[in-house]
Amino acid sequence: MATRKKLPAEPPFDPEAARRSIAHDAPIRSGKYVLYWLRALRRAEDNLCLDHAVRRANELGLPLVVYESLDPRAPYASARVHTFVLQSAIGRREAIESKGAAYGFFLPKSADEARANKALVKLARDAALIVTDWFAPSGAMSEFWSEVPARIGRAYGVRVELVDDTVGVAMAHFAGKHEVAARTIRPKVQRVLDACLRASDEPTVRAPRLREVEWPFSPVEIQANAVASLVEGCAIDHSIPAVATTPGTRVEALRRLDRFIDERLRRYDSQRNDMGLKGSSELSAHLHFGVLSGRSVALRARASSAPEAEREAFVEELIVRRALAFNHCMTTEGHHRYERSVPEWARATLEAHDNDPRAKHTFEDFERARTRDPLWNAAQRELLRDGVIQPYARMLWGKVAIELAPSAKTAFEWLVALNDKWALDGRDPNTYTNIAWCFGLHDHPYPERAVFGTVRCMTSRAASTKWDTAAYVQRVR
Ligand SMILES: Cc1cc2nc3c(=O)[nH]c(=O)nc-3n(C[C@H](O)[C@H](O)[C@H](O)COP(=O)(O)OP(=O)(O)OC[C@H]3O[C@@H](n4cnc5c(N)ncnc54)[C@H](O)[C@@H]3O)c2cc1C
Repeated sequence: MATRKKLPAEPPFDPEAARRSIAHDAPIRSGKYVLYWLRALRRAEDNLCLDHAVRRANELGLPLVVYESLDPRAPYASARVHTFVLQSAIGRREAIESKGAAYGFFLPKSADEARANKALVKLARDAALIVTDWFAPSGAMSEFWSEVPARIGRAYGVRVELVDDTVGVAMAHFAGKHEVAARTIRPKVQRVLDACLRASDEPTVRAPRLREVEWPFSPVEIQANAVASLVEGCAIDHSIPAVATTPGTRVEALRRLDRFIDERLRRYDSQRNDMGLKGSSELSAHLHFGVLSGRSVALRARASSAPEAEREAFVEELIVRRALAFNHCMTTEGHHRYERSVPEWARATLEAHDNDPRAKHTFEDFERARTRDPLWNAAQRELLRDGVIQPYARMLWGKVAIELAPSAKTAFEWLVALNDKWALDGRDPNTYTNIAWCFGLHDHPYPERAVFGTVRCMTSRAASTKWDTAAYVQRVR
């Protein structure tokens, strides 16, 4: 009888190691400081990436320099995004200095100024090593998130280390395979979630803070009453206005979190989707820009006195669905394109129904919220005004677009364009994965019907029998 070979035991999961990766592997040089390049996580508090930079500085006995910028060349740079990001930076200098590091925010006014200044390159020259935050490839920002740190490291022979503190679980742990659906990633997330959910211990730098950093730019002082004029001075798209009701500040993020935990979490599962109410956290923009981490939001939710089923329903959206969205973008090159993101079976059935009677609106009708469907128009108006759409209305917005555009492929492209341009929480893995979900990704075939083929169908009429859609339209108006 053949003896069964004992498999080697799997090493225990180490969340800290799983969060870390190396963008450019070079020996640590002698340098004047460790440079923390703050990119995706727009916060000083409870930031495991910043903590790693502090620890590295302490190991090397060096000071820490923190560099942050906002580039007018970024795709979809607008008054909306610039205002939110600058608001998120109010008080950041003081918070970082209190950890013993120096801090400078570079706000180039134009593409020429950004190009000519080469701020990061100049700061990199004196760095022993660079630490920066990891973010998943997402649409037009994919190259920036995935390739630029390695390029800087290669060009200037400096080691670049990345830390992932975005979703809450370390995403590299799930990068090996494209997940078919939430049911396949859920058990994997659940296995490591407890180990990943720990708060920062807020370490401080031991070396004296550098008082005379040779910043290759004039660091901007960001105060609440200066944000509007700073934004006005930048050569960006000013036709996309700031969202007055959603300031990007950490204070606002924490206020929303408190409101959610105290008032909404205990009924989250039944009220999140209710179009007549506001039952969700409304934290997606703050999570997208890293003003808050999914990790600390999950910790707060789990520590609350809300029923366990409600807490877990929230963690399902916050961590499992977000991890699924990130996994799709991490494993699908060109995920913002219809051909790459929408599964083959769904494309086949949608294309077979392309000639079914449909509204055939123009992009302008879409953007101006002037289609034949009043509920779709209300969702689009919410996007234009508030930069987000209520969760159920957003699904409807994605699904009903298939009936309103000349073809399914065109609907996909227009949804991506509108979300990228107008959404405060846009240009995120959640964007492309959820739009693709509307077209069959992570889903299975349903009974065949007009326009949708066998892709799951949602209509405004059905939504009106389920929710108080009149209240939603009224609210958005
Ligand atoms: C067509 C379409 C486009 C979307 N575009 C975006 C987008 O650009 N950015 C974005 O963050 N979300 C997007 N979503 C997902 C979801 O609609 C929003 O995250 C949610 O509506 C944000 O509201 P909230 O913060 O109140 O959510 P809550 O219900 O309070 O959820 C908390 C957090 O969990 C995460 N989350 C919730 N639902 C999902 C989901 N389905 N997939 C992944 N993560 C989720 C978000 O980070 C959210 O902020 C889109 C969904 C659809 C159907």
